[in-house]
Amino acid sequence: MVRAVVGANWGDEGKGKITDMLGQESDIIVRFQGGANAGHTIINDYGKFALHTLPSGVFYGHTTSVIGNGVALNVPVLFQEIQEITGRGVPMPKILISDRAQVVMSYHILFDKLEEERLAGKSFGSTKSGIAPFYSDKYAKIGFQVSELFMEEAELKDKIGRVIQQKNVLLEHLYHAPALKTEDIYKELMEYKEMVSPYVCDVSSYLWEALKSGKNILLEGQLGTLKDPDHGIYPMVTSSSTLAAYGAIGAGIPPYEIRQVITVCKAYSSAVGAGAFVSEIFGDEADELRKRGGDGGEYGATTGRPRRMGWFDCVASKYGCRLQGATDVAFTVLDVLGYLDEIPVCVGYEIDGEVTTEFPATRLLEKAKPVLKTLPGWKCDIRGIKKYEDLPENCRSYVEFVEEQIGFPITMISNGPGRNDIILRGKSL
Ligand code: GDP
Repeated sequence: MVRAVVGANWGDEGKGKITDMLGQESDIIVRFQGGANAGHTIINDYGKFALHTLPSGVFYGHTTSVIGNGVALNVPVLFQEIQEITGRGVPMPKILISDRAQVVMSYHILFDKLEEERLAGKSFGSTKSGIAPFYSDKYAKIGFQVSELFMEEAELKDKIGRVIQQKNVLLEHLYHAPALKTEDIYKELMEYKEMVSPYVCDVSSYLWEALKSGKNILLEGQLGTLKDPDHGIYPMVTSSSTLAAYGAIGAGIPPYEIRQVITVCKAYSSAVGAGAFVSEIFGDEADELRKRGGDGGEYGATTGRPRRMGWFDCVASKYGCRLQGATDVAFTVLDVLGYLDEIPVCVGYEIDGEVTTEFPATRLLEKAKPVLKTLPGWKCDIRGIKKYEDLPENCRSYVEFVEEQIGFPITMISNGPGRNDIILRGKSL
C-alpha cells in the first residue's frame, strides 16, 4: 500500500521527521515533486541532517530511496548529499533515479538568479535553485530527461543547440550576460550521466512490481498545499504540485493505490518568501516564537533565512488538509508553544466586512484580516510525554479545538524533534 506524507501549510511543517519516523515501516520512499529548493531537517541516531533532494528514508538500511519522475533533479546536490551522509557514518543508501526525471541545469540556476535580480522588489522570493526555469522548460518541452543523457552525441548536441539558441537571445538582450555554448552544456550533461548511470531505472514499472508484491511505499512531499501552483497563493507558489494526488503522477503509480494521506500541520504558522500570510505576527512576539520554534529556531533549512511567523491558522489548515485529502493529520511542534500564557488562533478571515472560514483565492486573500480566538496556554514542557491522556488539559483542549475547526482527525502529535517524540492518538497507523 501507499502512504503519502505531505504539508497542509506553507512548508516546514516537520514532514521530514514524520517521514523518517514512518520510514521504519516502509520498504520504499519516493520523492515525487520539487527540487533542492526546500529542505527537511531530520534528527536521528546519526545526528542532525538537512536533506534537500534525498528522500528522508536514506537513514534506514532496509529502505530503497527513489527519485521519481516529478522531481527537479539537481545531480551535483544529490551527490553532495550522499557524500555528506556517508561521510558521517550513514551506510550508502539504496538509490533509484527515474529515467523520466529531468535534470536541473546550471543555466536554470543562472536564469533564476538573473530573473530575481531583474524583478528586484517584485521578485517571488525564489531560493534561486533554478526550480521555476526548470519546470518552465519541462512544460515547454525543452528540458533534458535522464533517459536523454544516453542519446547519441550528435543527436544530443543538436538538441542542445536548439535549446540554447532561445536561451541566448534572453541572455544577450534581456539580461546582458554571456551566451551559453553547446560544448559546455554537453560536458555538463555527460558529467551528470556518469554520476547517475548506476541508479537509473524505470521507476514506475519498479513501483508497480513492488505494489504487486505487497511492499509498503511512502511518498514524501515537499512544501505544502499553500505553495501548490493551482491551489496555493499564486503567484507566490512553487512550480510543481505539492499535493498528495500529484504523488501518483510524480512517482508513476495508480492514484487509487494512495490509501493514507498523512497531512502535516504545524501547531503555529511559519512561511518563507513573499505572499499573503493572514495570521502573521511581527516584532517581539514573532521574534520569540521564531527563536523557540522548530529545533533551533525557525530559519530556512536551505537558505538560513528567518521564516515569517504567525499563529495557527484554522482557515488555511482546513483548506490545506482538504486539498491534500487528509486521512490523518500529524500535528507537529506542539512542545514549542509551552511558554505562552495564552495562545491566539486564527479562526476566520474578515474580508470586506464579512467573516469567512473558506480560504479564498489570492486576490481576496490579500484583503483578509485574521479573526483571532485566544485559548489558555499550558505553561509547561510537554516533551517526553508518550500518551495523549498525559498531556496537560489545556494542551489537549488546544489540540481538540484545532481538530474541530479543521475537521480532519489529528492522529499523531509531535512533541519534540526526535524520531520517537510522537504521541499516537485515536486509530493507530
Ligand atoms: P519539513 O520541510 O516539513 O520537513 O520541515 P523542516 O525540517 O523545515 O522544519 C521542521 C523543523 O522542526 C525541523 O528543525 C525539525 O527538526 C523540527 N521539528 C519537527 N517536529 C518537531 C516537534 O514536534 N517539536 C520541535 N520542537 N521541533 C520539531
